[in-house]
Amino acid sequence: MTHDIGFVGLGNMGGPMAANLARAGHRVVGYDLVPEALRQAEAAGVRPAESAADAAGGADVVITMLPAGRHVLAAYEELLPAARPGTLFVDSSTIDVADARAAHDLAVRAGGRAVDAPVSGGVPGATAGTLTFMVGAAEADFGAVRPVLDAMGGKVVHCGPSGAGQAAKICNNMILGISMIAVSEAFVLGESLGLSHQALFDVASTASGQCWALTANCPVPGPVPASPANRDYRAGFAAALMAKDLGLAAGAARAAGLPTELGLKAAELYAKFAADEGAGLDFSAIITTLGGSAQ
Ligand code: NAD
Repeated sequence: MTHDIGFVGLGNMGGPMAANLARAGHRVVGYDLVPEALRQAEAAGVRPAESAADAAGGADVVITMLPAGRHVLAAYEELLPAARPGTLFVDSSTIDVADARAAHDLAVRAGGRAVDAPVSGGVPGATAGTLTFMVGAAEADFGAVRPVLDAMGGKVVHCGPSGAGQAAKICNNMILGISMIAVSEAFVLGESLGLSHQALFDVASTASGQCWALTANCPVPGPVPASPANRDYRAGFAAALMAKDLGLAAGAARAAGLPTELGLKAAELYAKFAADEGAGLDFSAIITTLGGSAQ
């Protein structure tokens, strides 16, 4: 079944996601504040809208892929009055759980349905249509959104009711941020003990230190040729986005009164790194601040 989809936020992620929906046969009307993003989306089969409201007006599904919670809540103020009753709102941005629940409640009060469906997989996953979607939704809404998400993703997980998708996203990225620092510290310590990067990798990648930060995104060049460390930490998952996600996790932990000490420390280290020498680099470049040569 094909849908009329309004897509708001055609940036690094939203652009290729909207293109995949169009490729799958959906009628996609897109909007972005940046004219160049609109032009690129149009070239990929997305009809450009004049405004966010224009993108929502004829849609039965409205997807937002925006920088932060405040952008989503502001966009909903424009989208909700323009949408038809029963429209399914899907927010795939990474935002905090409280904002996701607020967006859901606004949509429902306006006569719509809403799910949070943040993603992991980055720009390569968005382009290849292999994103993982973490979905917070009522059972019936999950059933409705799943075929749409399948056109953009390789895996779609129903995590629970509204907000559960965002909760899964920030918990997963808290693991990732902490584990990247752990892997980096281990390489730095190993180096100071005379251990080669390859020897540590050969042991830890098949022993109990095994994790994605080591085996897929190894922070030292050599052992994993595809990791950003082999190209001066360019591209990959930006340190600024890791800092953002850890900030959301830290905020949620504080709000819950939880002493997630390593999560808070990782948030602090990444915030400093992203604001400083890490701006624009892959998040694994944090190793260069941890005291070793790591090269
Ligand atoms: P981006 O900055 O490239 O894109 C955001 C787009 O939203 C921009 O083109 C901007 O012009 C547009 N925009 C902002 N306000 C708008 C409005 N009111 N109306 C219309 N358009 C508006 O960011 P991105 O990398 O595409 O990330 C989008 C979201 O996905 C973020 O929440 C991010 O945390 C999350 N995310 C990103 C990645 C990644 O690797 N880039 C991975 C997973 C999740």
